[in-house]
Amino acid sequence: MSEYRQDPLSRRWVIIGSDRAARPNEFVEEPVRRQPVPCPFCAGNEDETPEAVASYSAPGTPNWLVRIVPNKYPAVTTDEALCPKCPPPLGSMSPQDETIAAFGCHEVIIESPRHVASLSELTLAEAELVFRAYRDRIAALKATGQFRYVQIFKNVGPQAGASLEHVHSQLVALPGVPDVVTQELASCREYFAEHHRPLFSNLIERELAAGQRILAQTDHFVAFCPFASRFPYEVCIAPLASQPTFEATQTGELGELSRLAGDVIGRIERTGGHVAYNCVLHTQPFDTSPHDHYHWHIEIIPRLTKVAGFEWGTGCFINPLPPEAAAAHLRSSPVAESRFDRSV
Ligand SMILES: [Zn+2]
Ligand SMILES: [Zn+2]
Repeated sequence: MSEYRQDPLSRRWVIIGSDRAARPNEFVEEPVRRQPVPCPFCAGNEDETPEAVASYSAPGTPNWLVRIVPNKYPAVTTDEALCPKCPPPLGSMSPQDETIAAFGCHEVIIESPRHVASLSELTLAEAELVFRAYRDRIAALKATGQFRYVQIFKNVGPQAGASLEHVHSQLVALPGVPDVVTQELASCREYFAEHHRPLFSNLIERELAAGQRILAQTDHFVAFCPFASRFPYEVCIAPLASQPTFEATQTGELGELSRLAGDVIGRIERTGGHVAYNCVLHTQPFDTSPHDHYHWHIEIIPRLTKVAGFEWGTGCFINPLPPEAAAAHLRSSPVAESRFDRSV
């Protein structure tokens, strides 16, 4: 029997099917992997990208492991001036036909000097530096005072919108707050006003008590398949304690987070082959005073089903695989090979 479910954070509705046995490779064909090199993101081809705004290397070595460059084909640019009289875009009503210059900042985080495609293929050192780069770039862009939000996201595989195979994330700093984030904050604020405790604390506590949608718990983080998952094998990673801003994450916790994220993606891939996926990081906007009732979080979205007419028409997603079954499959995924032991 199918069910209607609502996500308490986004307030999106989903229809969860009852295809409890489905494995990822039963939904779509595996994307073709390994584009031929040369590739502009590989070590040695640094001249093919704009000059790095930041880079990270292993201690005592001159070679970069993670490199951040301006996007060569930016969606938004600081060359545009933001209209001082206009309301900030993305979150507010704009007068009809108003043209607002696409002011913003668009960067690419190249996650390895090696030509690999997925976060699960990074070494421990590379993966930790990726999350450190996320934190440091958010903090640096916040400090400019020009932006209200930074969206970090990852497209892996052609079905997920990746135009280059080489492992990378993107960052778009925006002058306004996206509606998706505004809705999440509003849900948390309203829940806190009514129940006097954070929505996330309640949600995580209930998930841990029930256990059926939990994938893993570490000292500071938890990974679970959300109750109202939009997609098969959708996973949310969040801090256990209330922590609204990702940029406040301690350096010591970033290694733990990167191992957990790599483990989750590795499990998805080992369950069904090298599936395409997106990751998004949601964190508190810059100009809101910190409130303990929001938790930053990472949404991992495997692209195994197509967003089709019903979803476009209604905003309601049909997910054929219950998250309880997805979590059970991912928990039983074979133990990872020693990719994390690989030296840099
Ligand atoms: Zn490459
Ligand atoms: Zn979110």
